[in-house]
Amino acid sequence: MRRIPFNFPHKASRELEYLSEVLQSRRLSAGGKFTRACEAWLEAATGAPRVLLTTSCTAALEMAAMLLGLGPGDEIIMPSFTFPSTANAFVLRGATPVFVDIRSDTLCIDEAAIENAISARTRAIVPMHYGGVGSDMTGIMQTAKTHGLKVIEDAAQALCARHHGRPLGSFGDISAFSFHESKNVVCGEGGALLINDPDYVERAEIIRDKGTDRQKFISGQVDKYTWVDIGSSYGPSELLSAFLLAQLEEAESSTIRRRIAWNRYHEMLEDLEQAGNLRRPSIPPSVEHNAHIYYVVMPTSEQRRLAIAKLGEPGISAMFHYAPLHATAAGRRFGRVSGSLAKTEDIARRLIRLPIYADISAEDQESVVRVLKGL
Ligand SMILES: *Cc1c(COP(=O)(O)O)cnc(C)c1O
Repeated sequence: MRRIPFNFPHKASRELEYLSEVLQSRRLSAGGKFTRACEAWLEAATGAPRVLLTTSCTAALEMAAMLLGLGPGDEIIMPSFTFPSTANAFVLRGATPVFVDIRSDTLCIDEAAIENAISARTRAIVPMHYGGVGSDMTGIMQTAKTHGLKVIEDAAQALCARHHGRPLGSFGDISAFSFHESKNVVCGEGGALLINDPDYVERAEIIRDKGTDRQKFISGQVDKYTWVDIGSSYGPSELLSAFLLAQLEEAESSTIRRRIAWNRYHEMLEDLEQAGNLRRPSIPPSVEHNAHIYYVVMPTSEQRRLAIAKLGEPGISAMFHYAPLHATAAGRRFGRVSGSLAKTEDIARRLIRLPIYADISAEDQESVVRVLKGL
């Protein structure tokens, strides 16, 4: 049997054409035509008044922490079941992540746990949309409003996904997408900052451009540009943007194909769930997910270990996922916990992610399911 990789990035048809256009133009640095075209695509897709392309989602989250002016003493509520960048961006500013539990259906932050974690120092809530399944943004936005908090969506995995028909990434004051090779739409390394509150736009452009007002110089508002604020180098090269534009143009169609693959696993695994051999994802009706991840939860961590080993024998790559941040060396040093994280700890020990990508064949999916049925 041939090997089945965990992930295989979709190949969009115009990648080479756009790349060769950049190579011929010799216009290679950030801020060119393709960067702007990707930003316009994302603005149209999400309704965000301004999107800035960045070198990664991590960079976009770092920019968000700078834009909110966060610093020592400030607390940021987030799930523990997430990638380190969700927390690191705030720790870099001296702020403290406060880790709370997830819901067992969406594996996203539990909105009830947020309420209990709020203190006089809380400044923001950072939901992360696990597997492109939306957090309960209705409840989270309401809590934020009641307590005067900002919301930053870590929408790294959530491009083309919706909550009650509205695109994820469009709810928070600021949101971040990732185009890392492991995501649905990719350019190797890349990301985007969505600025839903227009008050942040001017400063975001300065922060992305090394703390200078170069953007105002380009648009003719000032006659020379200088250092005006903190900032870094967060703009992607035109080469990456050109590749990304080809990918974005096929984002909707590749998401549809991922969803077909997701639904196929879901149907094929129904028997195993009914027999009590594993649990499948359960998606609330408010969610239109993007099939970023297909996971199953095994009854015990030992059965999880065995399943990953058995899948590996014929060359099928299946993966566990996050080591909960609150229990890591850095999480203990820089963060604190609020309430019980029992669901996070339990799910982290038993979850397996199965291979999924736009171009996975039904035959390969059947091979994966056959191994799970033979356990
Ligand atoms: C992938 C991912 C990131 C990091 O994205 P990069 O673009 O690689 O920086 C951050 N948060 C979450 C939840 C992710 O899945």
